[in-house]
Amino acid sequence: MRRLSKTSKIRNNISLHSKHGKSVEFLIKICDFIKSHKNTKEIVYPEYKESFDYVDSNFPHALIKEVKVYLCDHKLFFDIGIGRSLGFYSPISKIIVVAKQRTMKRKPIETLLESVEAKITLDEIIVHELLHYVSNSVVKGYVTREAEEEFAYGYSVRYLLDKGHSEKDIISNNFMPYLIGVVDKEKIKRKVIKMSKDKLGYDYDYFNGLTARKRKKDLKKVEKLLFKETIAEAKEIGKKIIKTYIDKKQIIEQQKENNDFDFMNLL
Ligand SMILES: [Zn+2]
Repeated sequence: MRRLSKTSKIRNNISLHSKHGKSVEFLIKICDFIKSHKNTKEIVYPEYKESFDYVDSNFPHALIKEVKVYLCDHKLFFDIGIGRSLGFYSPISKIIVVAKQRTMKRKPIETLLESVEAKITLDEIIVHELLHYVSNSVVKGYVTREAEEEFAYGYSVRYLLDKGHSEKDIISNNFMPYLIGVVDKEKIKRKVIKMSKDKLGYDYDYFNGLTARKRKKDLKKVEKLLFKETIAEAKEIGKKIIKTYIDKKQIIEQQKENNDFDFMNLL
């Protein structure tokens, strides 16, 4: 009971997505709350050795093994308003938090795209979050969230390939929810409405003149095509990321061999 009242207090006081929700004070509170929760445990090296060793070998200056990583109940992520997330790095508290397997029921899914979930294991989540740590602590973060995420997804590619995942699986299982988020939705919408001209009976300009409610209703009629086109576009972006970062990895290897390895050359 005490635990419940504490979580709901945090949730009620400040929402992560509210205007003031991302205040430094709130983010520190969240991390302290998770760290002190009775079911939370610290992951200490050599636990998840492969994850730490992989990032450490790529970024030896980042002192990866000193980063604190906490494993908590996934329920806590719901309590702080990030239920869809599996882990995060807090640049303020300088800790990584990853969640145990999801136990909470998902809220009803409204669209096909919402049904897409990452199929990713804990060691893979840890690699991703450690890479966020690298980009924030050594490189001092990226200007855009998209670039920051691309760094973390991109530099995890080699780890995932080494585990035996195919490029196709990496895109579909590890990257897909992220990729869907970066797809140019307007471009896809325009394309699908053009393709569905016979079905809808109008063109994109006409569609844009409709009320928001009518647009939403009509988009539902072409949802399957919208989903198909979005996934296809997302896969293309995924392929590009994999190609870019495999090339980068080769550059690193070359530099290591030439003994002029310089961290900043990676970027
Ligand atoms: Zn991320």
